Amino acid sequence: MDGETVTGGASRELRRDPVSGRWVLFAAERRRRPHDLGGHGTVPGAAATRCPFCPGHEAETPPEVYADRASPDKADAPGWTTRVVPNKYPAVGGGGAHGPGIEGLQERRDGFGAHEVIIESPEHGAELSELPVEAVERVLRAARARMGELGRDRAMRYVQFFKNHGAAAGASLEHGHAQLIALPLVPAVVEEEMQGAARYAERVGRCVYCDMVAAEGREARRLVYQNDGMTALAPWAPRFPYETWIVPTRHASAFEETDDGSLRALAQALRETLARLRRALDAPHYNFLLHTAPCRSPRLPHYHWHLEIFPRLQPIAGFEWGTGFTINTMPPEEAAADLLQVEI
Ligand SMILES: [Zn+2]
Ligand SMILES: [Zn+2]
Ligand SMILES: [Zn+2]
Repeated sequence: MDGETVTGGASRELRRDPVSGRWVLFAAERRRRPHDLGGHGTVPGAAATRCPFCPGHEAETPPEVYADRASPDKADAPGWTTRVVPNKYPAVGGGGAHGPGIEGLQERRDGFGAHEVIIESPEHGAELSELPVEAVERVLRAARARMGELGRDRAMRYVQFFKNHGAAAGASLEHGHAQLIALPLVPAVVEEEMQGAARYAERVGRCVYCDMVAAEGREARRLVYQNDGMTALAPWAPRFPYETWIVPTRHASAFEETDDGSLRALAQALRETLARLRRALDAPHYNFLLHTAPCRSPRLPHYHWHLEIFPRLQPIAGFEWGTGFTINTMPPEEAAADLLQVEI
C-alpha cells in the first residue's frame, strides 16, 4: 500500500493507535456543521426560526429514513411526531475506495458506516423528560427500528444509540434529538464489557447484570426507579456523580429485540430518571448511551443490554486522562437518595 492510501483517500477514516489499540475516527467535514449551542451569548430558543429540525424545514435535512406521521404518504413534510434523517455532517459514511490496511505502525480503515439523527418531537424546546411518555416511547421505537435495519447490513458490526443534551454534553443543535452511528467494528468499551460479563458467567454461571439487578433490588440503597420491566439504579462504582443505569429486569442481550411492553417500560423509566436528574441537578447537560450486543449476535446468555446516563457536571481532568479512572465526589448511595427525594 502506498503512503497516500495510508494518509487517507476517504474523507472519513479510522486510525488505530499502535500502542493502545484504540481507534480514532477522523471526520474533517464535521468542522463545517452548524451550531446553535455553546457559543458565547447563545440565547435558548433564539435559533428556532432557522432550526433545520423544526417542522416546515424538512427540506434542510437529507430525506427521512423513518417517521411517525398521520399520513405516511407525505414524507419530508410537516405532520410528523418523530422523524429520523441521515446526519448532514456524518461522522461516518459510505465506503471509500480503500480497504483496511496496515503499513508499519500505521493501521487504517475507511470511516465507513451510517450516522442518523432521531428528531424527538416537532417542538423545538421540548426536553425528553418533559414530553409525554408516548413521545419518549416513539423515540425508542424509532431507535429500535433503525438499529434493526442498520444492523442487517453485514458490513456493520455495531450500532451506537446515544444522546447529547446541552453544549457541555457535546450537542451542537438545541432541538431535542438523539443519534445512531453504525460502525464496521465493535467498540472497545463494548468488547470489554462483554469480556468482563463472560468471565463472570464462566465463574458464577449467571449473567452479571441479572445478578446486579437482583442484588440492588434486595439492598435497595442505590435503586432510583423500578417498574415491571426496567430497573434504574446508581451502579456500585459509578465514574461520575449521579451516573444512572437503566437495566431490563429480565435478561435480554439485544435491544433491537425488545418487545413493545418492555419498550413502554423503558420509556417510563427513562422519562422518570431524566425528570429526577433534571429536578435534582437544575437541568444538567447530559449524555445517555446504549450498550447492547453487536449486530446479528445470537442471544447471549452472559451479556445484557443497558442504558447509561451521565449528567455532565464536571469536565474530565488530568488525573482522569492520565489514569483512566475517575475521582467521583458523590457516593452512589447519596446520589440515589437525592434522586428519590425530589418531587417530580
Ligand atoms: Zn427546532
Ligand atoms: Zn442478564
Ligand atoms: Zn455499558
